[in-house]
Amino acid sequence: MTFHIQAIDVGYLNLSGAANVFLVEGPTGFAMVESGTAATWPALETQLEQRGVHPTQIMDLLLTHIHLDHAGAAGHFAAGNSRVWVHPFGVAHLVDPTKLLASSRRVHGEMFDRLYGDLWPTPEPQALAVVDDQIISAAGFSFRAIETVGHARHHHAWLLQNADERHIFAGDALGIVVPDSDFISIPTPPPEFDPSAWMHSVRRLRDASPTHLWLTHGGLQCSDAANARKFIDRVQERLEQESAFLQVQSAAILRQGRHESDAYQQALSQAMLVYKDWLHTKAASAGVSSRHIAQFLGEYFLRMNLQGALRQASTNA
Ligand SMILES: [Zn+2]
Repeated sequence: MTFHIQAIDVGYLNLSGAANVFLVEGPTGFAMVESGTAATWPALETQLEQRGVHPTQIMDLLLTHIHLDHAGAAGHFAAGNSRVWVHPFGVAHLVDPTKLLASSRRVHGEMFDRLYGDLWPTPEPQALAVVDDQIISAAGFSFRAIETVGHARHHHAWLLQNADERHIFAGDALGIVVPDSDFISIPTPPPEFDPSAWMHSVRRLRDASPTHLWLTHGGLQCSDAANARKFIDRVQERLEQESAFLQVQSAAILRQGRHESDAYQQALSQAMLVYKDWLHTKAASAGVSSRHIAQFLGEYFLRMNLQGALRQASTNA
């Protein structure tokens, strides 16, 4: 039996291929993995209607984590009666998004409004905590949560399986695939990026022996076990490279002492240049177009990653 799963490109950042949500049709109805952002909600509604589905028919929304490109429209789904399933650390933030929005505004600055829009609160009875390895029932199927921290501490991947197929909805735990390429980019945002925890999570996903890998940023990447294993190996390699590189850069910046000092700021600018050169060269030699490098691996992404690595290095110091 094959599952009926559709990746829907929500047009995140007004770019095609930047982020997906996944509509799963089962024997008892519909479930959705990821919500998109509040800003992409109107486009998602239209896309659902084109498929003959009204958002209120989606009884269960399964979130991989509460970063707003994954969970920003959770409240919109909840307003249409969906149950919202999320890691225990995410529940309070969905019920009262004040802190989550403030932290996201801190990370994303003036980009925030363009990126996300407002997160509506999810009424408490509809925000349901899922712990590691818990199985929930949605659309008449069983979905298993696999805790996969490292990118964030509130991250689950979701496993949907039958006798023939093992589908993993990976959220950000297997990185991002830049559109029209097979280049894997590793998002390491503050405040919870943790390379060794992330590596452990990648191994967990490998051990689950998936056949199909659905990436929020990248869509369906593999549809058989051998290719899924190869893909996960490549993620592991990229994660190692990226973490090692960022660790060296962070250490050089932190040696300059206080955050406000000129020396620190100079080291930060220097690290940005070195990082840009390093990552863009890698992406270009993997065949990523210069347009996609600018769109998906631009200054904004590099800065976020470096801030995540700095935060991680300074809390571990
Ligand atoms: Zn994320």
